Amino acid sequence: MEEQCLFCQLANNQQSQKVYEDDKISVVMDIKPVNPGQVLVIPKEHHSSFLGMPNELLAQTMLIARLMGGLMFQALKAQGVNILVSVGPAAGQRVGHAFVYVIPRFDEDNAGLILNQKEVTQEQLQEAYKKLTTPIAGQKETPEEKVEESKPKPVPKPPIPPRKPAPRAG
Ligand SMILES: [Zn+2]
Repeated sequence: MEEQCLFCQLANNQQSQKVYEDDKISVVMDIKPVNPGQVLVIPKEHHSSFLGMPNELLAQTMLIARLMGGLMFQALKAQGVNILVSVGPAAGQRVGHAFVYVIPRFDEDNAGLILNQKEVTQEQLQEAYKKLTTPIAGQKETPEEKVEESKPKPVPKPPIPPRKPAPRAG
């Protein structure tokens, strides 16, 4: 936990009204939502970038995001859900602590989120394709080795722990 980080405080603060909490994750209401019921899934441990999170914590964060998305369909009668992660200011990350938005969506809620698509040339597509595939081809051995190593390990604990009862108001 970093003292200066608001999201570290938000995730670890006992006073926060949490929708969900376990030892690694807190889910809090977004006070400036696109729609009421929008939540922030925040790892308690400080990581400035989603991409830099340890695998297990990242997986747990996304599992809880999925849980919240399902809850929004059931409890809020949402007609859709956005699960959003922003990495870097260019992508709209405005907080130096990785988290995931889960946003309930409704027909004609006028919240937007259609990204502007561009006309690009075949050359631009091919250039990007080469840049993306070349480093992965070079690393091909590593991920497969890791998968092999992890196979004999015992089955991990269930990914989604039972929900804590909702905290009482006040
Ligand atoms: Zn933090």
